[in-house]
Amino acid sequence: MADASFDLDHDIVSAIQIFSTEVLEPSAAKIDAESIFAICHLKALADIGIMGLNLPEAFGGAGVNPHTLFESIAALSGACASTASMVTAHYLATDSIQYGGDEVQKAHWLPRAAKGEILGAFALTEPGAGSNPADMTTTATREGAFYRIKGTKHFISNAGAADFIIAYVKTDKAAGSRGISAFIVDPAKGGVTIGSAEKTMGLKGGHVFEVMFDCLVPEANRLGADGTGFRTALKTLDAGRLDIAACCVGIAEAAQRHAFEWASTRQVSGAPIAEFQGLQWMLADMATDIAAARALGLSAADKRARGERYSLEASMAKLFASEMAGRVTDQALQIHGGYGFTQGLPLERFVRDVRIMRIYEGSSEVQRNIIARTLLASKAGH
Ligand SMILES: Cc1cc2nc3c(=O)[nH]c(=O)nc-3n(C[C@H](O)[C@H](O)[C@H](O)COP(=O)(O)OP(=O)(O)OC[C@H]3O[C@@H](n4cnc5c(N)ncnc54)[C@H](O)[C@@H]3O)c2cc1C
Repeated sequence: MADASFDLDHDIVSAIQIFSTEVLEPSAAKIDAESIFAICHLKALADIGIMGLNLPEAFGGAGVNPHTLFESIAALSGACASTASMVTAHYLATDSIQYGGDEVQKAHWLPRAAKGEILGAFALTEPGAGSNPADMTTTATREGAFYRIKGTKHFISNAGAADFIIAYVKTDKAAGSRGISAFIVDPAKGGVTIGSAEKTMGLKGGHVFEVMFDCLVPEANRLGADGTGFRTALKTLDAGRLDIAACCVGIAEAAQRHAFEWASTRQVSGAPIAEFQGLQWMLADMATDIAAARALGLSAADKRARGERYSLEASMAKLFASEMAGRVTDQALQIHGGYGFTQGLPLERFVRDVRIMRIYEGSSEVQRNIIARTLLASKAGH
């Protein structure tokens, strides 16, 4: 049972649900069809405090509890998954500063980021290093009071419009993940080249880019000591994986809503298709799957709210929710028959948008590795 202090802030969640329905949902199909970068919603999102929902009040954020954050992200994603992906990529950047930065860095960057005045990107993946960041080859080499960052990052959400990029790079090539350090890079200072946006299967409004670095960054922009970047990345990814679980719950719920409505109104042989037991069972499975994913997500949020380590729970929540969203959006499309396959309805978009959730921020295979490794280590008493 969750502690009462972790209870959902219903006012915030319902304000974000209304905003999502009224502002985001009407343009979601156009954003998808024309691959419009969801930054078009930045001002509206910032005006109601969404860009700083993940941050404490001390740094200009909303200071909401993890349950409220989960349900808020679910609402955004259910209305427009591309917009939610732009927002959650920004959270990865600001969480990196929140978890790895010093007070000066936090005071300098976070309040403006929380207000949406500046947009962040999180750059961990490289062309040759995705699932295992220790394989990365981008380096930061000392040059006096600066570091020269050299190398290429790939699939970096928001990078094309980012005012700051958190670059995870090697300061010690021989030290594996212990040689990774994180830096705040200001692309406006030069030496950062952004490629064109990738053409993706889904989340077409959540643009991703290749980023080439050959730039000088002051030592003051390093987050924490040399070699602490991987720890910061892991803490940031715990939060990020929970955010993705929330996105999956939101998209699956949107698909489910459409499926229930369609099943109740679409007639075959003179009766609503909801009267077929085969479809009733599908609807029952969808609802059960979503409830289970939400319960896992909120139980990870419980641990997070108590200040306990929740890496295992975040991995479980992300694994289950992303697999669940694949099943549920597919079933919802099936219930719509041929109409589900057309672009006149959002079902095919939901199917495309959720596909990446099983891949990014640690694929399902990587989450299973983390879960198994953690459980085996605890069984061995480590
Ligand atoms: C739309 C989009 C947005 C993204 N946004 C960002 C971002 O903002 N920042 C960022 O840093 N990255 C981002 N990424 C990158 C994303 O996190 C990586 O694509 C992901 O981590 C997988 O890495 P990879 O593509 O190199 O696949 P690989 O690591 O090459 O994996 C290929 C396959 O091998 C499997 N595999 C790998 N290792 C193991 C193992 N040990 N055991 C079993 N199976 C394994 C994987 O599960 C996968 O099926 C984004 C990607 C996309 C497509």
